[in-house]
Amino acid sequence: MKKFHFQTPTGIHDVLPEDQEYFRKFLSVAREIVEFYGFKEMEVPILEEAALYEKGTGETTDIVEKQMYTLRTKGGDVLALRPEFTPGIVRAYIQNGMMNLPQPVKLYTQGPLFRYEHPQAGRYRQFHQFDIEVFGETSSAIDAQVIQLFTLILKELKFTHLIVEVNSIGDSSCRPYYKKLLSSFFRSRANSLCQDCKRRLKENPLRILDCKEEKCQQVKSQAPQTIDHLCEECKRHFKSVLEFLDEADIPYHLDPYLVRGLDYYTKTVFEIFSEKPVKKIEEDPSQGETEVVTRSALAGGGRYDTLGKILGGKDIPAMGAAIGIERIVALMKANAANLPKEKPGPQVFLAQLGELPKKKSLKLLEELRQANVQVAESLGRDSLRVQLARADKLGVAYTLILGQKEALEGTIVLRAMDTGKQDIVKMDKVVEETKKRLRKKS
Ligand code: AMP
Repeated sequence: MKKFHFQTPTGIHDVLPEDQEYFRKFLSVAREIVEFYGFKEMEVPILEEAALYEKGTGETTDIVEKQMYTLRTKGGDVLALRPEFTPGIVRAYIQNGMMNLPQPVKLYTQGPLFRYEHPQAGRYRQFHQFDIEVFGETSSAIDAQVIQLFTLILKELKFTHLIVEVNSIGDSSCRPYYKKLLSSFFRSRANSLCQDCKRRLKENPLRILDCKEEKCQQVKSQAPQTIDHLCEECKRHFKSVLEFLDEADIPYHLDPYLVRGLDYYTKTVFEIFSEKPVKKIEEDPSQGETEVVTRSALAGGGRYDTLGKILGGKDIPAMGAAIGIERIVALMKANAANLPKEKPGPQVFLAQLGELPKKKSLKLLEELRQANVQVAESLGRDSLRVQLARADKLGVAYTLILGQKEALEGTIVLRAMDTGKQDIVKMDKVVEETKKRLRKKS
């Protein structure tokens, strides 16, 4: 028979128990902060109609063009594994009539996302985000508050060297003109652009500003900037966002070419990076070492006042953001983050010897759990010596030993691990007796 050797698919990882602790720590900090500010948790499905993202995220985005996992069901529906949260949450807001609730509606969610990317350090095909969205509020205060919340979460996790980049990409009254300017700028330099950007030039010139290719970045550095071409309303809004950030003591940089890879943004966009100085050894030994700064994107978001309409509702003012949990976990590990103290270890070990005792063990274990006694067992082992050695290793105060004779007589042996003293206790009294002895010890 063929021997299978299954591995996770490329770019997809298990989250092992040692990483779960960091995930949990991050989520407890993030939840506590956003819930204080009135956000309510919700879940959206992992599978949605592919058209939701094609329309919402945008057909010309890398996410939809290159990275979406789509599938056809047996019934013929075309579905996609969610590559981002926002379109699903907007769909849920409309579908569940949340516009009838008092506004703003503040929601948060977390979970896995799927993008068919080139896997590399910190870039996976299945990864997790924590995401917040605010609906029904046009005020610039909300834009600043969303940025503030993410900086608060990162500060609470003791992260330093954080950079907040902000920009405004205008709205439907000023962006079309800016896009025209960009098109004519890039058209005259089309020969210097990569193949993808030549195509982007026809589809959506804003996407060229996201391109990571060195030669496109060079061309981009001379391109017209959105903030020079904002309409009065977008200018006022952006100025006000920056004033809120100043008042809240949130340092930021203005990045005039930050557009984010999504089509639905209007006005404010932002990203948060972590910067790490890294020593680089120069090829010419006389130059010695220089320091270069590497950047890792931790979070990003923006305002998206027209997505509601795009998805079939009406204009719904909204602002949202997402933070990448794997990257946060990697930084927590690098910073040797303090994790919450582990749950107290077991106080009692249940050893069993033979078939009947093993059968009786399941019920007794549950009785101990209900009585709040931390108990460990090795139901797969039969030797008393091995089980006592395990009890010893775990450092429990008592071991309950259930042999064949005791199981038949309805009793159990209660052994104090420090003295080795053993007492026979009635099975129906053992939980109570164990609790009493544990209380005496503490
Ligand atoms: P985005 O949804 O692309 O704006 O990404 C928001 C954040 O999610 C980024 O700043 C990263 O921290 C994280 N992220 C995005 N894509 C990936 C990926 N492929 N693997 C791991 N983390 C990611």
